[in-house]
Amino acid sequence: MSEPEFQQAYEEVVSSLEDSTLFEQHPKYRKVLPIVSVPERIIQFRVTWENDKGEQEVAQGYRVQYNSAKGPYKGGLRFHPSVNLSILKFLGFEQIFKNSLTGLDMGGGKGGLCVDLKGRSNNEIRRICYAFMRELSRHIGQDTDVPAGDIGVGGREIGYLFGAYRSYKNSWEGVLTGKGLNWGGSLIRPEATGYGLVYYTQAMIDYATNGKESFEGKRVTISGSGNVAQYAALKVIELGGTVVSLSDSKGCIISETGITSEQIADISSAKVNFKSLEQIVSEYSTFSENKVQYIAGARPWTHVQKVDIALPCATQNEVSGEEAKAFVAQGVKFVAEGSNMGSTPEAIAVFETARSTAAGPKDAVWYGPPKAANLGGVAVSGLEMAQNSQRITWTSERVDQELKRIMINCFNECIDSAKKYTKDGNALPSLVKGANIASFIKVSDAMFDQGDVF
Ligand code: GLU
Repeated sequence: MSEPEFQQAYEEVVSSLEDSTLFEQHPKYRKVLPIVSVPERIIQFRVTWENDKGEQEVAQGYRVQYNSAKGPYKGGLRFHPSVNLSILKFLGFEQIFKNSLTGLDMGGGKGGLCVDLKGRSNNEIRRICYAFMRELSRHIGQDTDVPAGDIGVGGREIGYLFGAYRSYKNSWEGVLTGKGLNWGGSLIRPEATGYGLVYYTQAMIDYATNGKESFEGKRVTISGSGNVAQYAALKVIELGGTVVSLSDSKGCIISETGITSEQIADISSAKVNFKSLEQIVSEYSTFSENKVQYIAGARPWTHVQKVDIALPCATQNEVSGEEAKAFVAQGVKFVAEGSNMGSTPEAIAVFETARSTAAGPKDAVWYGPPKAANLGGVAVSGLEMAQNSQRITWTSERVDQELKRIMINCFNECIDSAKKYTKDGNALPSLVKGANIASFIKVSDAMFDQGDVF
């Protein structure tokens, strides 16, 4: 079976490990690869509902329960017309290792539905969520598998999915994360992926500049305009940076002076009603007061100038090798991924070469891979599970503080593992290799201890 996205995610992990001294130092770890690459279980099911025209529709639903050695399967649900098994296996595989880097007890999984929600009514979305959960509810539970959101699944969908689970199972439990604040959700969960991405990037800046620089005065290009992009942008603005771009699947917006937090608030409310950036820019007054340039059919990367930091926050494979070269040529020093597998292998190779061949940390290009840089979302999901178990709610200060601690710990672990297990590690450690090695060891050790690998 051809599974290009899964193959790409798998090859990235394998090439980091092969490039390291881990298998030389501890040959037993090689045995883990063929085992960990096969999901413990894949559930595929029919989802059917009545649309607003009174017609029956059908779509394919999935849950990939990839690895439960480190805790209940954990990972989001993606509702998008591109959803297929290759994409969910790549996301689930990535999730196993990402979750282990949070330091919390979570296994890895991913699921979704091959459907386009755009333009559908609220009522129809509710019927789709109930229909999806009718089958999924048999396979999940607070100690078994705890899904959350991903592309196409936000607070509204999580609400309907949770209501469906509660009614089918007669059980109010922490079976999903990203819940409403008034019914079991955690403060800072909506913000967590974007905020965490910025905290991780701040750790990269600290490391490269010896604590001398921050987001203050930096120009930042961001792609995407969903939950991750919105909160990353708001945090960048709060820390004194300038956000020069955002995008959606149809085009991008560029602002030389910086996209404002008021504009981001408008994007946030309009996107729930499936408005495109093109429509938002022409309809909302915040965009007539502060003009931005809209470019149809383009990603922002080659349209922005004098950029210091790039944060891809849209979807997989949206930075090509050529675009990565354009970043390096114009002096981008930090790239960190809010989306999963945003950079192609060619782009990662460009960034990694620009790191390893640099004269010193200040001249290098630092690439923060998704399984480390965007783990803030699932980390706060883990904290939501902890709060649900205790039946209490933490303050936003406490959650934010934990999130910061988790992101900085993860950064330090990436650095330490790269130093310990890679040949070029000491001078300019590779964060992508460090993340892959550190997480692979954690997951493998749990699998050895429990007899999954022997
Ligand atoms: N979909 C998010 C991710 O890619 C969050 C998953 C979760 O919170 O379980 O990490």
